[in-house]
Amino acid sequence: MEMTLLGSGGVTPAPRIGSKTSVTALAKNGGPDFRTGSSFFVHDAHLLFDTPEEVRFQLLRQSIDRIDAVILTHWHPDHTLGIRVLEQYNWDFVHKKPVREPIPVYISKQQLTWFKEYSCGGFLEFYQKKGFIKIIFFDSHDRLVFNDVTVEPILIEKTKGFYFVITDSQGKRVVYAPCEYHELVVDPSTRAVDILISHNLFWEDATISPRKIPPTDEDSFEQMLTHATEMEAERVIITHIEETFELSHEQMISVFKQKYPDFDVVPGYDGMRIEL
Ligand SMILES: [Zn+2]
Repeated sequence: MEMTLLGSGGVTPAPRIGSKTSVTALAKNGGPDFRTGSSFFVHDAHLLFDTPEEVRFQLLRQSIDRIDAVILTHWHPDHTLGIRVLEQYNWDFVHKKPVREPIPVYISKQQLTWFKEYSCGGFLEFYQKKGFIKIIFFDSHDRLVFNDVTVEPILIEKTKGFYFVITDSQGKRVVYAPCEYHELVVDPSTRAVDILISHNLFWEDATISPRKIPPTDEDSFEQMLTHATEMEAERVIITHIEETFELSHEQMISVFKQKYPDFDVVPGYDGMRIEL
């Protein structure tokens, strides 16, 4: 299975406008500290997870010119505000008709309700009416099939978000858990995972990050590692990385090695190619 971490940043990726942190200073020079919004692509299925503001540039940067399906993990703006990319991709503005068959856009019913209530979720129904997308609702434990790739969303009860188990025809498994990671309970079926791609959660170990006020609406990094153990994850890649934690890519690599020697855990970066 071939995948790309299109965007490895969180709500406020580096470089952050107006910020004086060393991470922002580093990120302004480009390199792995320059991050864009959270999104992910499974090449085997031409499957896109989430549409952050910068998704158009992310797809162009990776030379991706085909999107067969989109999964919206949840409604939050940092994961959806680039939804108009589907209009650019699949609506012919000259002949006023879709370019190709409607693109299936998967979302849960609750998330679409919130997306419409708090953000631009009404676009989805408008786009569906125009015929260039098709909304498909998913529930926890559904099996969404895309060629040789199967995706199983698993509900995170507390947030009504999901983590996603992606399995290929060889039985290789990736868990994508980019956000809404609070009181996550590992489903007993989520085992023998090759790679866990996880939200950058806060560290209980207060020596790691200069940020001393931890968020109250997410699990900790240390809890996530126990989940990785439960999933039998061989490797952990961190995404949704916030500028506010004030750790550079290089600092994260060395901290992870020093603090978690029992885990193969690395920070992701924009454009990171992942192959299994
Ligand atoms: Zn997010």
